[in-house]
Amino acid sequence: MKALCLSLLALSLPLSAQQQPASPRLQSFTVIRAGTLIDGKSDAPRRNQVILIRGDRIDSVSDAASTPIPQDANVIDLSRATVLPGLIDSHTHIFLQGEDPAKGGYDANILKYPLALRAARATVSARRALEQGFTTLRDLETEGAGYGDVGIKEAIEGGYIPGPRLFVVTQAISTTGGYPLEGYAPELVMPKGAQIIDGLVEARKAAREQLDHGADWIKVYMTHRSWVGKNGELVSQPTLTLQELQAIVDETHGWGRKVACHAYGGIGLQRALDGGCDSIEHGLQITDAQIAQMLTQGTWYCPTISVYYTDWASADTPDGQRDRLRASVHEESFRKALKAGVKIVFGTDMGGIPWSEPIAQEFPRMVDLGMTPMDAIRSATTRAAEMLEMSGQIGVVAPGAYADIIAVPGDPLRDIKALGNVQFVMKAGKVYRSEGKPLTAAP
Ligand SMILES: [Zn+2]
Repeated sequence: MKALCLSLLALSLPLSAQQQPASPRLQSFTVIRAGTLIDGKSDAPRRNQVILIRGDRIDSVSDAASTPIPQDANVIDLSRATVLPGLIDSHTHIFLQGEDPAKGGYDANILKYPLALRAARATVSARRALEQGFTTLRDLETEGAGYGDVGIKEAIEGGYIPGPRLFVVTQAISTTGGYPLEGYAPELVMPKGAQIIDGLVEARKAAREQLDHGADWIKVYMTHRSWVGKNGELVSQPTLTLQELQAIVDETHGWGRKVACHAYGGIGLQRALDGGCDSIEHGLQITDAQIAQMLTQGTWYCPTISVYYTDWASADTPDGQRDRLRASVHEESFRKALKAGVKIVFGTDMGGIPWSEPIAQEFPRMVDLGMTPMDAIRSATTRAAEMLEMSGQIGVVAPGAYADIIAVPGDPLRDIKALGNVQFVMKAGKVYRSEGKPLTAAP
């Protein structure tokens, strides 16, 4: 009876109080003329397309020759550009700034900076990502800034600040001995860059708290530190036990959400797979058996290649040798995973890299290691959307999707570096960059 009463009430309301009827007079259209369209799902680009946008969504995509342009439409001419879906970076840290060791590095961020300063800088990181054409980020933990990512996400969704749509994980989870700050006098109780748990009760409780406070995903550190082992192999210390991880995964999956696992290799990576992680972050050293397990389980791989080429220590030091080994084993793992058909998503670890550097630098890394330019684009569009359970909504230029649209001069299929020169950015039908210039300086 209740449903019937409600529907009668709706009928009796004046038209203005109900949803407005679709009409070109009442709803403004935007039309994008696309010279070349890479839509994120098709195997080949299409020439001379017209994208009709109504509100925050794409209404239609069709051949320019056969498409009448609605009167009063706002026409954006990108007929000399390559138009693509807004890009997705599946591994960022807006609350990190590529901290310079000479200025106190990671620790100073937590020990010295007021949270409001960190939040202010995070808004700049988010804006920079958007201006570079990244209309969605999966931001993989705040590094001691608590639930700040939930707040930034709310500020973006509320229209207070410009930024990408965010999928956030809040604090992330590791164990005692498994995350900085570390190296201080044992008498001092230091703050940590992640939520520390030991044991099954704490593991499940941390996941519950983070999910309750707005985590879209849960992030778990399954390895910590790395060094060169006795036989020249890369070693990384495991953190959570299999049972601790299983408690977190069980809880998180119960909420219908997913778990991202930072895992370099070895025991920790094996526990991540056995425990049912949904995505492996970094995955520096993955064995053939682990690749087979990822295929069977449908595990995503977010490699973040570029960050392992930054800030190498001197070659004659243990850290310098470790840095070089990390990059070389990572390349091999990426090639093997690619060949085997593991589901790979684009991720950078921006924040580990200063936000003043280009996000798109990861694309040529992936292509240099054997990925086709089209697959590299898909890893930052449709594939990432699939991982985020947003297929058809983001990462694609197609009817019904959010109008997240970017444009670059040149042909990224011929030269993937073209994606580092985004000239036009639209997110949910609103333009944030046009003719190369950001329009985001003021909210
Ligand atoms: Zn990271």
